[in-house]
Amino acid sequence: MRLSAVKGTYDVLPDDQPRWRALLRSTAEVLGRAGVDEITTPVFEHLEVFEKSVGESADLVVQKEMYTFEDRGGRWLTLRPEFTAGVLRAYIEHGMYTWPAPVKLWSAGPAFRAENVQRGRFRQFHQVNCELIGGRSALLDAEAIALLVDTLRAAGLAGVHVKVGSVGDVDDRERYNAYLRQALAPVADELSEVSRERLRLNPLRVLDSKDARDQALLARLQRPLDLLGPEARAHFDDVVAALRRWDVPFEIDPAIVRGLDYYRFTAFEVHHAGIGAQSALGGGGRYDGLVANLGGPDVPGIGWAFGIERVLDALHGEAVALPGRQRPLAYLVPLDQEAVGEVAALARALRAEHRVEHGYVARNPGKGLRDADRAGAKVAVLRGARERADEHVVVKDLRSGAQQRLALRALAEHLRSVERSEPNPDEAPRHGPESAR
Ligand code: AMP
Repeated sequence: MRLSAVKGTYDVLPDDQPRWRALLRSTAEVLGRAGVDEITTPVFEHLEVFEKSVGESADLVVQKEMYTFEDRGGRWLTLRPEFTAGVLRAYIEHGMYTWPAPVKLWSAGPAFRAENVQRGRFRQFHQVNCELIGGRSALLDAEAIALLVDTLRAAGLAGVHVKVGSVGDVDDRERYNAYLRQALAPVADELSEVSRERLRLNPLRVLDSKDARDQALLARLQRPLDLLGPEARAHFDDVVAALRRWDVPFEIDPAIVRGLDYYRFTAFEVHHAGIGAQSALGGGGRYDGLVANLGGPDVPGIGWAFGIERVLDALHGEAVALPGRQRPLAYLVPLDQEAVGEVAALARALRAEHRVEHGYVARNPGKGLRDADRAGAKVAVLRGARERADEHVVVKDLRSGAQQRLALRALAEHLRSVERSEPNPDEAPRHGPESAR
């Protein structure tokens, strides 16, 4: 008998390795510049971790897709079908909610789902996952989306297509579910079997249907975005404004939903013409309440994942040589509310060249400098009302203590000279996670 790989699994052969490594390197670099640190969690967890994260109305489709087994010690274990639950389990277990927020973590490795195998759909596949945990600001939602786009672009992918929507808050979601139940009740018999089951358990997920007849029935209905309450609407408008300000290409799609119960507010997907309209490269959304569901404090977050196979499938790029992990060159401190948005936009521009981090709330100079120091930055850049008045920033070299006022337009050149004068000692070559080698 010839042994072969299990159906839905495959080997990454030596020829394919450089593409994997290049993707993981460019991912590590883009996310690292934005202050996202890597975390590796186990590929299996206690079943409970996924049961709790999937939510009370336990989405049967997800449950059925999980590989769950009893080990010799009588424990029920599950191979992770996605990363978020395990990462948040670790976030809670290690008390990361006491760290400066937001805590930003990314991972890469295999995930497992007992799906029908077809092109681009495997039983063991690989994801890059990113979580920004501990902030309610719409700026964080926009940052998450921008990071997903930036990561895919850095991998060499052109033609990335982002769709953004919102499922609203708990009330909005309930209202929309009630609306769907009522609107679809008369035509329930015409829906596909999967959609009928979803209509019963979690109506919102009917919108995810790939069935053409289902989509025809849905076309006449209102979308979640049409029924948002004022809070969710304002949050959504802020996300959209930040994305426009940052020139992140996107399209508003009122029908985008994330099916699992814990998703709130922003939901997004990334598509690519090369792999067909039905399948996404990746997606994500905001989860408020998930950390609490898993037994932690009431901390909100936002995250995304993309499928490595699908990105490689869509990719025509080449391997990119990248340096390893860095300390931020600069940490931007907002001294008033208006500066919070300004430094976020400034950081985004500077991240084209350097690792740059920034504060998300207004700080006094003393606290701001402490934040910059804690971040390990070489340089702190302060921005407030006085600096705004004449388009300056205050730049403090955190090693020498020297401080100067600098015209905003001279900042990029100044940071370049700091980088040149003392190359980052941490720039050792870095490899992808063990699992993806
Ligand atoms: P999801 O967690 O379902 O939103 O999936 C995020 C991304 O992971 C998708 O957009 C796909 O790129 C990828 N993905 C999910 N399931 C599979 C699968 N069975 N095979 C390959 N890639 C997958």
